[in-house]
Amino acid sequence: MILSMGNIYCHLIGYQLSAENANERNLITGTRYLNIQGMLPFENLTADYVRETNNHVLYRVTPIFEKDYLLALGVQMEALSVEDNGDGIKYNVFCYNIQPGVVIDYSTGDNRSDGSITVKAAPTQGTTAHNETVATTYILNTHTKKFHIPSCSSVKKMKDKNKCEFTGSREEAIAQGYSPCQRCIGK
Ligand SMILES: [Zn+2]
Repeated sequence: MILSMGNIYCHLIGYQLSAENANERNLITGTRYLNIQGMLPFENLTADYVRETNNHVLYRVTPIFEKDYLLALGVQMEALSVEDNGDGIKYNVFCYNIQPGVVIDYSTGDNRSDGSITVKAAPTQGTTAHNETVATTYILNTHTKKFHIPSCSSVKKMKDKNKCEFTGSREEAIAQGYSPCQRCIGK
């Protein structure tokens, strides 16, 4: 059975750290696990520090590829705060481009289920089926911390910088700290 690993375009420099949105050189294909579990905590840490102190941070995100493989194995994130010489922010981490339950061929980008996750039915966009195992595409609002179905009217009004596509179950979205939009998803 083919299971989508929920590929989304992953911003190497997070929305909150760059004003850019559609710079192709700033995009690689990454799993949602890479984005949410891997990179987001470090992006938030850095953005919060800059917001609170107005200090500068040397910041570099490097995708790591093996040979001529099409999919990055992961990204290296490095950051050092300047004015306090690293007292506020100092990290050098590697975030793996993996997805639990999915086997990924990094040479081609092909991916398949490792059999540990059961998918019962093909997901239908816009349904409100409360089926924990069905992966659905949601639109996250990183500002309000709400998630929506793509056709929700709130999505059209959302600023691009707050918009983040997420493929997974309702429960996974909630586990990431998001709450369902009352209008399009409901309790
Ligand atoms: Zn909504």
